[in-house]
Amino acid sequence: MNILDGKATAGKIKQRIAADLASLPEAVQRPQLAAVLVGHNGASETYVAAKVKACNEIGFGSKLIRFADNVSENELLACIQQLNEDNSVHGIIVQLPLPQHIDEQKVTMAVKVEKDVDGFHPENLGRLMLQLPGFVSATPKGILMLLEEYKIETSGKHCVVLGRSNIVGTPVSLLMSRNAFPGNSTVSLCHSKTKDLALLTKQADILIAALGRPQFVTAEMVKQGAVVIDVGITRVADTTTPKGYRIAGDVDFEKVAPKTSWITPVPGGVGAMTIAALMQNTYLAWQRITSSDATR
Ligand code: NAP
Repeated sequence: MNILDGKATAGKIKQRIAADLASLPEAVQRPQLAAVLVGHNGASETYVAAKVKACNEIGFGSKLIRFADNVSENELLACIQQLNEDNSVHGIIVQLPLPQHIDEQKVTMAVKVEKDVDGFHPENLGRLMLQLPGFVSATPKGILMLLEEYKIETSGKHCVVLGRSNIVGTPVSLLMSRNAFPGNSTVSLCHSKTKDLALLTKQADILIAALGRPQFVTAEMVKQGAVVIDVGITRVADTTTPKGYRIAGDVDFEKVAPKTSWITPVPGGVGAMTIAALMQNTYLAWQRITSSDATR
């Protein structure tokens, strides 16, 4: 068993961007990421703080715009409009989930496509499907960057994806099946209505678990020698820790790891890569906007 080290790989990616920026004259405007955060959801607070920290580390500017839970949809849309028009902002993210009274789709669609570094806008998702330049959402992009870093063979492999969300499962399944590296896999996209799930997972050369169900994937569900990517991040109550919880992945790491050829840990796997991919998207947005080059 070998570890797909997301933390180390993310560190390398961030260092490369930081070095590129450091070589620019001081007068050149740096990339800036704007993050919009509604309410005080603990997990969202943690994710946004990590994104702002990464910006600071590599020399990006960052803006954190906070709203109370009861912010109106119009107020939020007006803020996004302002950020769309702000020439000093190159990337915009709206941390999900949003409160129930706000239409997430409407908010996602309000972000200017050129600044949609989360890749959630329908145009960017369509571009991903058609393999046109655009923004690939950070988690699927991070997973692919990790497979690329470790030169994991994906061509002709059976890749089983657990979960079909718009932000992870569906885009990663599209990416793994496209004619590229990483890609060229034969993909099975599974969800809660999939019958005989274990029958499929046992055939997976590459298993990507993105369900949000702690330790759902057990050793019996995994083929000997498989590559296992654990996307899950769930806070599980744990009175032995100072915070009263610990982070659990979707894979029973201890039991599954010995059967695998490669596996991502949680934390230190896909989560770290997601942040690095977001930084890379923001850097790309800045390059495209400042050079008006949409083909990158
Ligand atoms: P989501 O929107 O809740 O989707 C979960 C998916 O899992 C759904 O497609 C659901 O099927 C499927 N599912 C749930 N229970 C299942 C079961 N028993 N059998 C088969 N399929 C089942 O979740 P998400 O946003 O994709 O996130 C998934 C996990 O990844 C969460 O733990 C989240 O915190 C984590 N995450 C991590 C990162 C990171 O940076 N590492 C980024 C994003 C998300 P249906 O469609 O049929 O309901």
